[in-house]
Amino acid sequence: MTSQSRTLTQEDTAPIAIATPPARVLQNYIGGRWVPAKATGAVDVTNPANGEVLARAPLSGRDDVEAAVAAASAAWPDWRSRSVGERTEFIYAIREQFRKRIDELAASVTREGGKVLSDARAEVTRSIEVLEVACAAPMTMQGRVLEGVSRGINSETIRQSVGVCAAITPFNFPAMVPMWFLPFAIVCGNTFILKPSEQVPLTSEMICQILEDIGLPPGVVNLVHGGHDAVNGILDSPGVRAISFVGSVNTAKYIYRRAAENGKRVQALGGAKNYMIVMPDAVVEKTVSNVLGSAFGNAGQRCMAGSILVTVGAAQAAIMPRLREEAEKLIAGDGTDPKSSLGPVISSGACERIHEAIETGVKEGAELLVDGRRPKRAPAGGNFVGPTILNKVKPGTHAATDEIFGPVLSVMHVETLDEAIDLVNKDPRGNGTSIFTENGAAVREYSRRVEVGMVGVNIGVAASPAYFPFSGWKDSFFGDLHVHGWDAIDFFTRKKTVTSRYFSVGETGKFFTEQGDKK
Ligand code: NAD
Repeated sequence: MTSQSRTLTQEDTAPIAIATPPARVLQNYIGGRWVPAKATGAVDVTNPANGEVLARAPLSGRDDVEAAVAAASAAWPDWRSRSVGERTEFIYAIREQFRKRIDELAASVTREGGKVLSDARAEVTRSIEVLEVACAAPMTMQGRVLEGVSRGINSETIRQSVGVCAAITPFNFPAMVPMWFLPFAIVCGNTFILKPSEQVPLTSEMICQILEDIGLPPGVVNLVHGGHDAVNGILDSPGVRAISFVGSVNTAKYIYRRAAENGKRVQALGGAKNYMIVMPDAVVEKTVSNVLGSAFGNAGQRCMAGSILVTVGAAQAAIMPRLREEAEKLIAGDGTDPKSSLGPVISSGACERIHEAIETGVKEGAELLVDGRRPKRAPAGGNFVGPTILNKVKPGTHAATDEIFGPVLSVMHVETLDEAIDLVNKDPRGNGTSIFTENGAAVREYSRRVEVGMVGVNIGVAASPAYFPFSGWKDSFFGDLHVHGWDAIDFFTRKKTVTSRYFSVGETGKFFTEQGDKK
């Protein structure tokens, strides 16, 4: 039997309108439950590689923060009373989940943040390293005791938890920066509130799902999405005892001031402009690849990005031709494409701001050696900027002073190491720096004199490993105790000194008891 044909009507040929389902509004994780924010505002979370709306992040308000503070406060007495060994077991379990789900976590980082998958995996790997260091708490949390501060009297300093601690984190490391704080905070017996960047909240959601899966007691870690209102709620809440912040300089200053005014312990890490010094004897090929990785890795959106290259003497002629050649080979593309050397920048706004910075650089006399404004192979719809090199940048211009936070390398030239040190030390920030040379004396002099918190020698991004403290100096850091390493234990504990004697040890030193004497 043949099928009966019928003439197609206009209705049949009209394009079918497929309604796009509204994006999921994320929920906060409070007291072990996923709950909608009480506040009604929300912002789109987009994939910076193609503009796809992935979800909507609620802009939680003070009520939402207070609910999290209440849950964290309620969970604290039981949590801090558990043995340090038991708390450490939970950290081991989180670490196992991170190892098992590393691809899933890295994919999330790339999806919402844009960086290439290899960078995203490296970020999750660093988070695992932090978890491993936190597992040493039964050793690192130990206090000190001195026998015999006076006859028959001992003094001991013990470390106790601080209470409810909160972290406010930036967009550029959605997994690593929250994990700089969370493991140390909870292993020390504190309870915790995380307010991730509203631009990248999905990896934090995944982290909390992991905590739920391993059975972390309710309220020990709470997640509150949002922007300024949520942050202000945290800064002003009397229930929050300590605040860790990572973000731009101005926000860091603001957070530090307001939290300190409210009597809280604070560590506030700010933005940066990081100098890479290349000496005339630097090994050219290795230096070029390190400089490129430092300037353009993560599309320049790293607080440790090398954003200014300073060539000393003959280094300019030795390095610049190879640097240009190699920079032109780098491909800006989707982070999931293995051919991409760098992913998109976080937003269309960031893209515009970076274009303006390049244009201002040229207007202020810099030579545009490599122009990344229209990257050839970048997919449509994404926020792509290719590697850009501004040469002959003059001190005091925008390209020399602004944290462009994109794949733009400013190049300056000086004749001596002294002049290079002077440039670095005049900058109000001091996060990281690198020197490329085989000359030990130059290294020693440079490391001794620069006012910068982290120094690399022939290493482009000298971020301290998790077992060392991480932080900059000057406007790159407000506070005292740095991130991870031994400083983390100091930040997340309070020291208490107990001085004691027992009367049943008599003046003669002979042990006795009242009961024994009566016999
Ligand atoms: P940002 O300062 O805009 O935001 C950071 C956090 O603060 C976010 O959670 C945001 O919601 C909140 N916030 C922003 N403005 C606020 C305000 N006025 N009031 C209250 N809360 C506010 O930073 P970002 O753009 O997300 O991240 C990039 C910046 O972070 C760069 O400057 C980079 O150098 C810096 N950073 C520094 C380090 C470091 O270790 N020093 C590490 C990573 C990133």
